[in-house]
Amino acid sequence: MKNILITGGTGFIGSHTCIELIKKGYKLTILDSLVNSKKETINLIKKILEKDISNVSENIELKVGDIRDFNFVEKVFRSNKKNHQQFDGVIHFCGLKSVNDSIKNPIEYWDVNVLGTINLVKVMIKYECFSLVFSSSATVYGNPKKNPIKEDSNIYPISTYGLTKSATESFLFDIQKQYSCKLRIAILRYFNPVGAHDSGLIGEWPLGTPNNIFPLLNYAGIGINKTFQIYGNDWPTKDGTCIRDYVHVMDIATGHVSALNYLFSNEAQVLTLNLGTGKGTSVLELVKTFQIVNKVRFKIDFIERREGDIVEAVADNLLAKEKLNWQPKKSIQDMCRDGYKWQKNLLLKKEN
Ligand code: NAD
Repeated sequence: MKNILITGGTGFIGSHTCIELIKKGYKLTILDSLVNSKKETINLIKKILEKDISNVSENIELKVGDIRDFNFVEKVFRSNKKNHQQFDGVIHFCGLKSVNDSIKNPIEYWDVNVLGTINLVKVMIKYECFSLVFSSSATVYGNPKKNPIKEDSNIYPISTYGLTKSATESFLFDIQKQYSCKLRIAILRYFNPVGAHDSGLIGEWPLGTPNNIFPLLNYAGIGINKTFQIYGNDWPTKDGTCIRDYVHVMDIATGHVSALNYLFSNEAQVLTLNLGTGKGTSVLELVKTFQIVNKVRFKIDFIERREGDIVEAVADNLLAKEKLNWQPKKSIQDMCRDGYKWQKNLLLKKEN
């Protein structure tokens, strides 16, 4: 059984990936500061898996602490080694992810996203753990000249968040040269992960005011927000709203399992892959599909374009399909249904 460290494992994408990894027989240690997630997620992951997997509690544990704290990260590695459960690999999800916040708090973003990763890699090398899957983002492409976007397109981030992701990628490329016979790295550039596990037990659970599209759609659906605001209806697209590549979080999760398996069975390298469906959906199409699938109505307001937005970002996902033998399976309807189911369950829980 392989031991994997999952940083940010109680967060949105991390928690869904934990489910797929445990199903495939991995033993997980989660490192998370809980700055944007809840401890309770661990019990919910166990609840989802317990009917199919015996002793699921033995396969997942949580260590609460900050990725920037070298002594803490080292302690996690040391204690696993002492228990003969040395990490075989790391999936590094933890980080700060809001484009808007990153412009307001750049130091925090550079500190957590870049220095946090440097800290982690230092400890990995010290403990001879040489396989790493890193959460990058389509934001590294900035405003692409061409869609769908291939991995070798220009890297030109236009926000602090995007800059921290591309700087981390550069660091990983550079450090791999030093350990070129050993280090196996997969950089996964996600497009727009949305939706939730179809149990409705886990999903995107932002602790502050949400600014990702899906939590805001959910808030409009259940009536917390009276309207849903779309930034601009004068973009050069068929309905005037921006086009994105929405991808179900469970498809992103299976992409990670495939990437990890790929690293374990191939030579040392840095592999950079887009994770998206390759299909563009306009923001207005997404909102209307959400209303139809979930039988909800709310007012849609078109407001000024937002600074830093781009007209279109759609993945060319052929490389991920070829290298990982991975195929996104879920539709926009699945994303809308599963994401809203999670939100309704959360509301019921709060009311009880
Ligand atoms: P999330 O906020 O739900 O999860 C991130 C987790 O990291 C949280 O549990 C948070 O508590 C933890 N964390 C933050 N700072 C930490 C620190 N200093 N030390 C330890 N733990 C810390 O985010 P997510 O949506 O699951 O995203 C996961 C990764 O994927 C992030 O790196 C993000 O930048 C990247 N990404 C996300 C998206 C998206 O739309 N969700 C798109 C592209 C890339």
